[in-house]
Amino acid sequence: MTFDTAPPNEHLVIIGNGMAGHRLVTALLARNDRPKHITILGEENTGAYNRILLSPWLAGEIDRDALALPALDAEGVQHRPGERVIRIDRATRSLTFATGERLAYDRLVIATGSTPLLPDVPGITLDNVGGFRTQKDAQWLMQCPPDSSAVVIGGGLLGLEAAEGLRKRGVRVTVLQRSDRVMNRQLDTTAAGWLEQTLARRGITVETGAQVARLDGDHDGRVRSLTLTDGRTLAADCVVVAAGIVPNAALGFAAGLAGDHAIAVDDTLSTSDPAIMALGECCEFQGATFGLVEPIRAQVEVLTHRLCGTQAHYHLSPTATRLKVSNIDLYSFGPLDPEPGDEILRYVDAEHGDYRRLILRHNILVGAVLYGDTRDGPWYFQQSLEQRDLTRCRDILLFGATDATQQLEEAA
Ligand SMILES: Cc1cc2nc3c(=O)[nH]c(=O)nc-3n(C[C@H](O)[C@H](O)[C@H](O)COP(=O)(O)OP(=O)(O)OC[C@H]3O[C@@H](n4cnc5c(N)ncnc54)[C@H](O)[C@@H]3O)c2cc1C
Repeated sequence: MTFDTAPPNEHLVIIGNGMAGHRLVTALLARNDRPKHITILGEENTGAYNRILLSPWLAGEIDRDALALPALDAEGVQHRPGERVIRIDRATRSLTFATGERLAYDRLVIATGSTPLLPDVPGITLDNVGGFRTQKDAQWLMQCPPDSSAVVIGGGLLGLEAAEGLRKRGVRVTVLQRSDRVMNRQLDTTAAGWLEQTLARRGITVETGAQVARLDGDHDGRVRSLTLTDGRTLAADCVVVAAGIVPNAALGFAAGLAGDHAIAVDDTLSTSDPAIMALGECCEFQGATFGLVEPIRAQVEVLTHRLCGTQAHYHLSPTATRLKVSNIDLYSFGPLDPEPGDEILRYVDAEHGDYRRLILRHNILVGAVLYGDTRDGPWYFQQSLEQRDLTRCRDILLFGATDATQQLEEAA
């Protein structure tokens, strides 16, 4: 398939100045054959920033300045922060802002990200209850006074990072996790158990198998407590919800674009309207939605080609996960549960807090959980991506990249 090159005066409009939108413009600016007029619109009032760094910012590990992504200053490029788009009119190829202003486009990219998923329980709209997604959210959490009580709903990556940030600010934190262990999608019971013990030593209480039934507030409408389905009540001056995300697809759906949970795209990132593309957490590809930046980087590369008239195709690829909590090192990829015939290799050094669990399928590494010394994580991940036959170094595989590589090279 070939694509038209960008007409000389084409106006490309991007809705969403987040990680995906900003990266796309950065990539386009490196190309001479890019659309000459680009407008990037963002609902947030700030310049683009690195959302990933909200966690270390909340934890007081970095300054606010460190969040900022480079300004996109180039001829023909306009950045308009504080502009919420409320409608896409495909017939006239125009957008309507919340202010009523309209803007015409030739091609449009939707990069509106996602919103925290709030559980449908009574009291969820009380004051001091919210997600952890934006700079504004982080600023809200920074206002939690020391010695106040916070409850974090969700013991996944985001919930634990929020919990640690609040703890470092002197807040008493309880994490509620619905499943039987924290980070249940990335960690097996051993690694999750160690993580829970480490968090407990730091003063974070983790309640697993815990589900929220209702939140109660005071006469000013501020949250005061939270009741679990087992009847227990916890005091809460603040409730952070980190229980998943919902793609911001409503704008696309209202314009008639196809999609199930998010805006559906093909392998060129085109939606059901060829003049409109989508990427990042607001899109879905082959039924998959996204919640990490790595796949978004790959999408940006493909979309840059498409917008400049050259070819590339997006395909799903595995991602690895790390937790950004200081002095807790975790690295994980692939499935947690072995299939019949899979081999599990384990190394446990409880004294030094070092744990490795590898899943081999026909001598190819398909999954890993590392806790403690995670330096070899990227090497294991690379072996898995390359589907390398590790028969020759199987015996020393658990001891890391250096010895295993040597053995593989000697055998070659
Ligand atoms: C605290 C935190 C820590 C994270 N840590 C990691 C990590 O360690 N590793 C990792 O891979 N991922 C991490 N993530 C996830 C990562 O940040 C997201 O995957 C990434 O930001 C998604 O990029 P996006 O551009 O699709 O969405 P966003 O970055 O959310 O950008 C979407 C933008 O669109 C704007 N927008 C929405 N609707 C409209 C509208 N109607 N009009 C105008 N503008 C609109 C929004 O205001 C927003 O600025 C983290 C996320 C959070 C919140």
